[in-house]
Amino acid sequence: MSNQQYLTLDRTNDKMPIIGFGCWKVEENVEETVYTAIKNGYRLIDGAAVYENEVGVGKGINRAISEGIVKREDLFVVSKLWNTYHNKAHVRAAMDRTLKDLNLDYVDLYIIHFPVPCQYVDPKEQYPGPWTIDGKMKIEKSPMHELWAEMEKLVDAGLARNIGISNFNCQIIMDLLTYAKYKPATLQIELHPYLQQRELVKWVKEQGLQVTAYSSFGPSSYVKLTKDAKTVTPLFEHDMIKSIADKHKKTPAQVLLRWAIDQEIAVIPKSMSSDRMKSNIDVFDFKLDEKDHADIKKLDENLRFNSLFAYGIPVPLFN
Ligand code: NAD
Repeated sequence: MSNQQYLTLDRTNDKMPIIGFGCWKVEENVEETVYTAIKNGYRLIDGAAVYENEVGVGKGINRAISEGIVKREDLFVVSKLWNTYHNKAHVRAAMDRTLKDLNLDYVDLYIIHFPVPCQYVDPKEQYPGPWTIDGKMKIEKSPMHELWAEMEKLVDAGLARNIGISNFNCQIIMDLLTYAKYKPATLQIELHPYLQQRELVKWVKEQGLQVTAYSSFGPSSYVKLTKDAKTVTPLFEHDMIKSIADKHKKTPAQVLLRWAIDQEIAVIPKSMSSDRMKSNIDVFDFKLDEKDHADIKKLDENLRFNSLFAYGIPVPLFN
């Protein structure tokens, strides 16, 4: 089993595992998959209300705890506030629903999933609420400073040990830092060799936030969702990544994860296969060398796969 490494979070000094298990698109056998991930050594579980699997995720976590594989305090459980609950009237209820679904008393990190306040829809009608209503995205009038104050209350209530953000750009983070009582512990962003985001990562770290990369394998996660992901060379098949992998006697997937970890960026790969789970976390016995890093740097194309346009929503969130 791997020797885990950690990133230390500001304020709480909590140790966040540098590699975790991603739960997006874990649609079948959710309990078994999460339980297997924990058995295979994963200690961070990255979930979200919008993945529509928190009940199963919670069952997997609680099974691992009840079988004595881990204690709750050994795990770092992450969830995300969905867009339709940004209004200050709905944040606590969204947290409560997630904790009820997970069957846990607290999460280690609760993240604002997108800086996009979508119109509230009563969870009794639809949970979680949609991106669009009648084909249009309707904005809920809930300013970020009000939302952040509600997130801070979740910390004070002991429901979230840390709070963080995802898909935020520099401008909105800069504004948030002017009023935050508890600054965000982490920023979670799409990050892989085709989208390296070097300036954002550097600046965010200087502000004392840790960075988590999502979709470390680049297009592989988006083949069914976007045209770009189908046309670009898959990173697993890229000659440069393959030759670096051969040199270190590792797989391309391990190289892609190690590339981020070498930069002290956390990763959260998703896989349904136990063998891949094991190999994805087996990345602590090697490092990329300077040449590897210099070569991979050249692959940056600012190529983003998780854009709202991919979901048919014409909002230029990252411009
Ligand atoms: P990923 O980069 O982890 O790739 C997953 C794909 O790669 C799957 O198709 C899987 O079968 C395949 N794969 C996994 N291991 C492999 C291996 N060793 N060899 C070959 N193929 C392999 O994709 P992701 O799920 O998009 O991202 C990881 C996690 O990040 C998500 O599960 C989720 O938790 C999080 N995420 C967050 C956001 C956000 O907006 N905050 C967005 C996307 C993802």
